[in-house]
Amino acid sequence: MNKINLCGLTAEEIFRIIQPKGFNYNHAFAITNTIYKKRRSDFSRISNFPNKLKARLAEIAIPGSYEPIASEISNDKTIKYLFRNPEGKQFETVYIPDGKRNTVCISTQSGCRMGCPFCVTAKYGFHGNLSAGDIINQIISIPPAEKVTHVVFMGMGEPMDNLENVVKATGIISAEWGMAISPRNITVSTVGILPAVELFLERSGCNLTLSLYSPYEDERINVIPAEKKYPALKIIEIMKNIPLKKKRRLSIAYVLIKDINDTDHHLSGLKKMLGGSGIRVNLLPYHPVKNDENEPSSDERMHYFKHNLVISGISASVRKSRGADISAACGLLASGLKHD
Ligand code: SF4
Repeated sequence: MNKINLCGLTAEEIFRIIQPKGFNYNHAFAITNTIYKKRRSDFSRISNFPNKLKARLAEIAIPGSYEPIASEISNDKTIKYLFRNPEGKQFETVYIPDGKRNTVCISTQSGCRMGCPFCVTAKYGFHGNLSAGDIINQIISIPPAEKVTHVVFMGMGEPMDNLENVVKATGIISAEWGMAISPRNITVSTVGILPAVELFLERSGCNLTLSLYSPYEDERINVIPAEKKYPALKIIEIMKNIPLKKKRRLSIAYVLIKDINDTDHHLSGLKKMLGGSGIRVNLLPYHPVKNDENEPSSDERMHYFKHNLVISGISASVRKSRGADISAACGLLASGLKHD
């Protein structure tokens, strides 16, 4: 008999598995607490578990967590981990310590099929979706797991292309019976797959970031494959009109490329597009890939954008580059993996 993999299951799903032998919800919560909060994988040594439950779990289930197979540390203390799941899919995870805020950037797919031209992950090809357990495992199985305060779904893959597993994982991360990390500290990033974005906003209380290459459709359509089918303007309309629960954050990730999308024309397009919307803009440094002629915008230019957005009433921030020396920064994941 194949044993059931518990990592990635909800408390309800675990309850349904153990209920026929007379166990109740409290036992299910004890199991989720052990996997997701205490991050323990050996149930036999847990003192507050009834022996009957330990025996039952040993018979039918495995905890399902697994450790990274390699890691690399950056000059700025960012750590990149490489995972290989039991089916052999490889993916990377990045831990970014920053004072009291410690973020883990997780992958949702092995590779990606969105084909964004400035992204190393796209060049690695698509090797499949990660399960909710694979997604959760990236948080609970890294050595600094207990320090994690924030989770961003910005690693390898397009989260909206793996919606069911992503929504399930955000539920487990934020649930009291799960990791109990506030949904306000969980951000999911997308290049914009419209039907999935709508479902995500309905079904999850977490933050959403839309990657925007340019405020102009003709420029986006030439560069971002998803734009043809799902225009960013429609997604921004939905983001503008959704009734937000207090403090949920919707934002735009705008990677500034010198003389490509950092001109005054682009700045005025952004202001027109986002003015009065309440959508925040995160300005990110561009990381050139191999044989790339594009260059990052200067710090001055990035702060010029920020200043002008802010005085137009649009909340904006400049994000620091982290982990670039170990290819852990945005768009660089999978640099060390074998390509198709
Ligand atoms: S930028 Fe994101 S969506 Fe685009 S190819 Fe890279 S991982 Fe996929």
